[in-house]
Amino acid sequence: MGSNLKINKVCKQCGKKFIAKMTTTRYCSHPCAQKAYYERIKAERLSKQKKQDSIEEVNLKEILTVKEVARLLECSTKTIYRLIDKGTIKAVNLSNRMTRIKRDEIDEILRPKQEKELLDFNISNYYTMKELRNRFSISDKAIYEIIKREQIKKVKIGKHIYIPKQPIDNIL
Ligand SMILES: [Zn+2]
Repeated sequence: MGSNLKINKVCKQCGKKFIAKMTTTRYCSHPCAQKAYYERIKAERLSKQKKQDSIEEVNLKEILTVKEVARLLECSTKTIYRLIDKGTIKAVNLSNRMTRIKRDEIDEILRPKQEKELLDFNISNYYTMKELRNRFSISDKAIYEIIKREQIKKVKIGKHIYIPKQPIDNIL
């Protein structure tokens, strides 16, 4: 199969002319093919390392460019500009197309939603179920119905449920 084929080629590794039996042959010999293979592996490893190094460098910065943010979040710069337009990411425009973003902004949008709620959580603004029952002489079932009907955002921490005081006070 193809054994009669003779194709004049130039070795991609050493540059010598040689005769190949297949159109896909790129190297004159096995050593050249092997050398090319190892060089490719080495180059790939190097570029991977370089990428890693610069990511770490970006990670240490407090003020980021849109490009750097895109790299950190592994998305396109277009997505970042869209998030800025939407107000999801707060950015500062130094001048046209010179946008800077604070690192905290990125940490903020990456923080899980629940954790964000916990940060805002101030227990004195919430009733526990027990407090509600005692204060308003109301059953758990009735409480849940009100929460559902009024679409009150309750906070669940472990087994405990906390209900914001303000909407409840307005209703009951
Ligand atoms: Zn060669």
